[in-house]
Amino acid sequence: MAHYDFDLGVIGGGAAGLTVASGAAQLGAKTLLVEKEKELGGDCLHFGCVPSKTLIRTAQVYHFLKNAKAYGLPQVEVPPVDYGEIRKRIQSVIGTIQRHDSEERFCGLGAKVEFGNPVFIDEHSIRLNGAAYSAKNWVIASGSSPGIPRLEGLDRTPYITNKEIFSLDHLPKSMIILGAGPIAIEMAQAFCRLGTKVSVIQRSGQILTKEDKDLADEVMQVLGSEGVAFYLNASVVSTRDLGNEREVLIKDETGREIRLAAEQILVAMGRDPNLQGLGLDQIGVVFDRKGLQVDERLRTTQKHIYGAGDVTGAFQFTHAAGYEGGIVISNAIFHLPRKADYTFMPWCTFTDPELASIGMNEKSAKEAGLEYNVWTEAFLGNDRSLAEGEKVGRIKMILDKHEKPLGVQILGPQAGELLSEWVAVLNGKVKLSTLASAVHPYPTLGEINKRVAGTFFSPKIFSDRMRKGLKFFFHLKGRACG
Ligand SMILES: Cc1cc2nc3c(=O)[nH]c(=O)nc-3n(C[C@H](O)[C@H](O)[C@H](O)COP(=O)(O)OP(=O)(O)OC[C@H]3O[C@@H](n4cnc5c(N)ncnc54)[C@H](O)[C@@H]3O)c2cc1C
Repeated sequence: MAHYDFDLGVIGGGAAGLTVASGAAQLGAKTLLVEKEKELGGDCLHFGCVPSKTLIRTAQVYHFLKNAKAYGLPQVEVPPVDYGEIRKRIQSVIGTIQRHDSEERFCGLGAKVEFGNPVFIDEHSIRLNGAAYSAKNWVIASGSSPGIPRLEGLDRTPYITNKEIFSLDHLPKSMIILGAGPIAIEMAQAFCRLGTKVSVIQRSGQILTKEDKDLADEVMQVLGSEGVAFYLNASVVSTRDLGNEREVLIKDETGREIRLAAEQILVAMGRDPNLQGLGLDQIGVVFDRKGLQVDERLRTTQKHIYGAGDVTGAFQFTHAAGYEGGIVISNAIFHLPRKADYTFMPWCTFTDPELASIGMNEKSAKEAGLEYNVWTEAFLGNDRSLAEGEKVGRIKMILDKHEKPLGVQILGPQAGELLSEWVAVLNGKVKLSTLASAVHPYPTLGEINKRVAGTFFSPKIFSDRMRKGLKFFFHLKGRACG
C-alpha cells in the first residue's frame, strides 16, 4: 500500500476547508490544512458575511436614529458617521470570531496548519514553502474572488471590491455599484443609509436576478425610497479616472448614453473560483471559469481529490460550504457514498427588509416546467410586524399540483430567521397541517409561517360544503348577523 504523509490534505482555510479539517481531525484522520493568507477564516470572516452583516447592523441603527420620529420619539439631529469608528467595530467583531478559527484551535483538534502557496506536483502531493507533502485524499476549498469584468478603461480606473470596502479610511460621498446581486444590493442600502449617494448599474431589468421579480422589485422600491438610484437594462460602455472622482459611462436600453461620476466604484459582478496556480492542469483535475468539475459526491475528475465551497460554483454561501464540507467527510473519511442534495438549500439577502428563500420560487418552478400554486400572507396582517413599524413584505409558499411544498420565500423583517422554521418543515417533511395547527407564541413575526399554511386550509375548512354538512349533522342555525 502506498505511504502518504497525511490521510487528508485540505487547501483553503475558509468555511469549507475549516469544516473538513476540524471534522476529519476530530475523527482521527491525520490532517494537513494549507492556507495562503496569514490567518484562517476565509472570505466570510475577513471580507464577506461577518464584516457585511456588522456594517449592515450599524447602518440600520443609524437609520433608526434618523427616523426616530416614526417611532413616536423626538426627531434628533444626527451627526455624520465616522467610518473609522465603523471600521473599528467591524475589526473587533472579526477579531472575536477569528479566535474560533485560530491555528492553535485547529492544532488542538489535531490538524497541522501550514501557511503558503501550495502547488500540486503529482496527484497526491503538493510543494509548499520548499517542502513536499503527500496525502491519500485532498480537498480543494480555496474559495472565490471578486470577478472583474473586462470593461473599457477599468484597468486604468481605481475601483474597490468586497476586499477593500470594509477598510476604507472614510465614508465615500458617492459610490457607483456595478452589479445588483446580493453583495451589491446589501452594500447599496448600507452605504446609502450611512450617507453615501449610491447608484446601482444593472445589465438586466431586475435586481437580485435569482429571486422572483415581484419580491426583488419590492426590495428595489424600498432602497429607491431611501435614496438609492437604479439604472436597470444599462450596460457599461467605459470607465475613466477623473482624479477626485471616477466616471462610468453607461448606455440605457434606448441606446442613450449617461455619464455618472462618483468618488468610488464598487465592482460586484460575480465571483471567480480561486483555482489558478494550484497546478491542477498538470494532475488532470478539470475546471472552468465557473469552478471545479465535481460529481454528486463532490469528487473532481481525480476521484481522491474533492471540491467544496465556492470553488464548486454551486451555491456560494457559507452554509453551503459547510454542508459540502460534511459531504466530503462522509465520502473521504467514512467512505459512505453520500451525494450533495441542494433541493432545500436556503439563502438570504440581508437588506432591510430581508429576502430569504428555500426550495423553488416561481421562477425556478416555471423553468422546471412544473405546475404550481402560490399562497401568500402579508406582514401587514402580522400584529408584531405592525408593532415593530414594519409594513413591507410578505411570505410566498409555493405548492405543486399535488399540494406538496416546492419552496418558500419571505420578504420581511428578520426573514432569514423566520426561514429556519421552513428549513425544519421541508427537510423533516412535516405536514402543512402540523404547521398550521401548531401553537406559535403571540405576538411574533413567526406567526406568519403558521398563517400562510393556514391560508391553504382555510378555503377547505370554511367552505359552503363544510357549513352545509355541519348544519345537517348538528342542526347549526347559521349566521347570526345579516
Ligand atoms: C461581501 C460578501 C458577503 C457575503 N455574505 C454572505 C452571507 O451573508 N451569508 C453567506 O452564507 N455567505 C455570504 N457570502 C459568501 C461566503 O463568504 C462564501 O460563500 C464563503 O466564504 C465560501 O467559503 P469557502 O470556504 O468556499 O471560501 P473562503 O471562505 O473564501 O475560503 C477559501 C480560503 O482559501 C484560501 N485560498 C485561496 N487560494 C488558495 C491557495 N491557492 N492555497 C491555499 N489557500 C488558498 C483563501 O485565502 C481563503 O482563506 C458573502 C460573500 C461576500 C463577498
